[in-house]
Amino acid sequence: MRFFVTGGAGFIGSNYVRHLLATDPDAEVTNFDKLTYAGNPASLDDLEPHPRHTFVQGDICDGAQLAEVLPGHDVVVNFAAETHVDRSIVAPLEAVRTNTLGVATLAERCRHAGVGRFLQVGTDEEYGTIAEGSFVETDRLEPSSPYSAGKAGGSLVALAYATTHKLDVVVTRCTNNYGPYQFPEKVVPLFVTNLIDGHKVPLYGTGGNIRDWLYVLDHCTAIDLVLRRGETGRIYNVGANNEVTNLELTRRLLAAFGAGEDMIEYVTDRPGHDWRYSLDSTRLRELGWAPAHDFDAGLAETIVWYRANESWWRPLKPAGATRTLDHGGPAPSGDAPGPSDRPAGPSDRPAGPSDRPAGPSGPGAGAGAGG
Ligand code: NAD
Repeated sequence: MRFFVTGGAGFIGSNYVRHLLATDPDAEVTNFDKLTYAGNPASLDDLEPHPRHTFVQGDICDGAQLAEVLPGHDVVVNFAAETHVDRSIVAPLEAVRTNTLGVATLAERCRHAGVGRFLQVGTDEEYGTIAEGSFVETDRLEPSSPYSAGKAGGSLVALAYATTHKLDVVVTRCTNNYGPYQFPEKVVPLFVTNLIDGHKVPLYGTGGNIRDWLYVLDHCTAIDLVLRRGETGRIYNVGANNEVTNLELTRRLLAAFGAGEDMIEYVTDRPGHDWRYSLDSTRLRELGWAPAHDFDAGLAETIVWYRANESWWRPLKPAGATRTLDHGGPAPSGDAPGPSDRPAGPSDRPAGPSDRPAGPSGPGAGAGAGG
């Protein structure tokens, strides 16, 4: 089967491509990625060269390029997105462009190319916050950030293609992922790499916000199952049943480093910060899926990976970058052409901390838990 995986140089996409090639001997993968600041060819180093993996640099908003490279593929798995909530607050148009218009462009090209199945990778953040109970797939979407609103637009456009054009679409919506190859602006790798360097960890507000944490390879198995066995036109929630407050997550990471709570720096909360995400994933579990990784063991493995792979994350984390927007990325003005508007080579990625707004009073001061 020929797979067209978009965003496969990012965190989850690179894990998925590796998983796919290892578990399906018939899979041939075209990995299509724009290589924004978050896309990292080094995450694919062990796959180059691989006889069943081909990398193509490209933008899912570019219909002409897709028309050239997409025909001949059986399935599309779309990971490509601007995934950082804090960045979407300072650079909203880029997030909405990729997360909604990009999905529409891809779906349209899938229709013309006769692609068999289109899987749109979505997020729990599309539903918004929930005080009690858990969201089911039929609940209304109330996203809070430009990131999640863009993602909600993307999943709705994809589903509309199933209804109107009979494109074989399935959508997954997953909780927060953690694991190897995650860009160090996101909360787990940010805190882990700060602690490796003996720096404090910046925690938003009181740290009371609740997230459900899934090891990235469990997300990969969920996607694979929905791709192969999911019912067309359906949404599948992917939840870990592993809810903890950001403070509890922080305490577990501190404990793993033998550090005390004096290493927490409480910073001004993110605007519009959703309080709690929670998914009911009964529909997916009825297909036979369950997470295989225990949270504490997965966190321990993740820490081991970041300790062992400094050569992967150090180039992404400029010296002194201890907060989420200290890393390279789209221009903070949001609408001005920024680094993400052009193909970025490895030499483009590291940017000086002085390029980014990182003061405690602005968005992005603390822990990014986007995606
Ligand atoms: P990531 O930021 O690590 O990777 C995104 C990748 O997409 C990068 O390689 C980037 O270069 C690429 N990309 C961005 N814009 C593109 C474009 N216009 N065309 C082609 N490629 C483009 O993100 P991630 O954490 O791996 O998330 C992958 C997907 O999973 C996203 O759709 C995200 O919304 C979803 N998701 C993530 C999480 C999470 O916790 N990380 C949870 C649920 C869902």
